Amino acid sequence: MTHKLILFDIDGTLLHAGKTPSTVFTESIGSVVGKTVKFPKQIFFGRTDTFIIREMLRQHLETPADGEYYRIKEHFIHRMKERFPQSDDGFLIPGIKQYLGKLRGESDIHLGLVTGNFKETAFVKLSHFGLDDYFETGGFGDDAEDRPELLRQAVEKANQHYGRLFSSEDIVVVGDTLHDIHSAHHWGYRSVAVSHIRDKDTLLEGKPDVLIENYNGLKDSRVLFE
Ligand SMILES: [Mg+2]
Repeated sequence: MTHKLILFDIDGTLLHAGKTPSTVFTESIGSVVGKTVKFPKQIFFGRTDTFIIREMLRQHLETPADGEYYRIKEHFIHRMKERFPQSDDGFLIPGIKQYLGKLRGESDIHLGLVTGNFKETAFVKLSHFGLDDYFETGGFGDDAEDRPELLRQAVEKANQHYGRLFSSEDIVVVGDTLHDIHSAHHWGYRSVAVSHIRDKDTLLEGKPDVLIENYNGLKDSRVLFE
């Protein structure tokens, strides 16, 4: 039996977190940089939290240092824990819970995360939507600035966690941006793109192996990777 590893991105792929994370991010960076910092909206798509903070520091401070990075990170995580549970403008990508339930029932399928979120804020979001029980391993934005490195770490951790060496053709990356598609192909993995809150044509430019709008009507749980 060939064992498969399916790695899910979070934002735009499992759920849409609403406005709270970017509002809190802006406040956290502002509190350290000392002024209100404007974000180009695109900066969030498919980027790691580490990249976003370091990039904003590079743009707004003459000599960005690690101290500022860690102060912003701490502020952000603290405020997300306070505020995100009260937010009500987020939603699950349709069909995801049922789909994860099906995948979890398959003994040859193993699940993991590959997300630019910090680990703590990833689980703030997942818990809020009741998805925290599905994932035992993952790569998070704490350790990597760019997406291919993040994915490499996610696979390495999954290999260790599940005690096997998944081969590249048995690894599937599910995401909602071109960064997710490119990082999957960078390592020779299969890419599934989810267009529910994104533009289909933009995603098709990245040539994902499969494109779906959401998880509704996926009768066969294997349709995404066989
Ligand atoms: Mg995403």
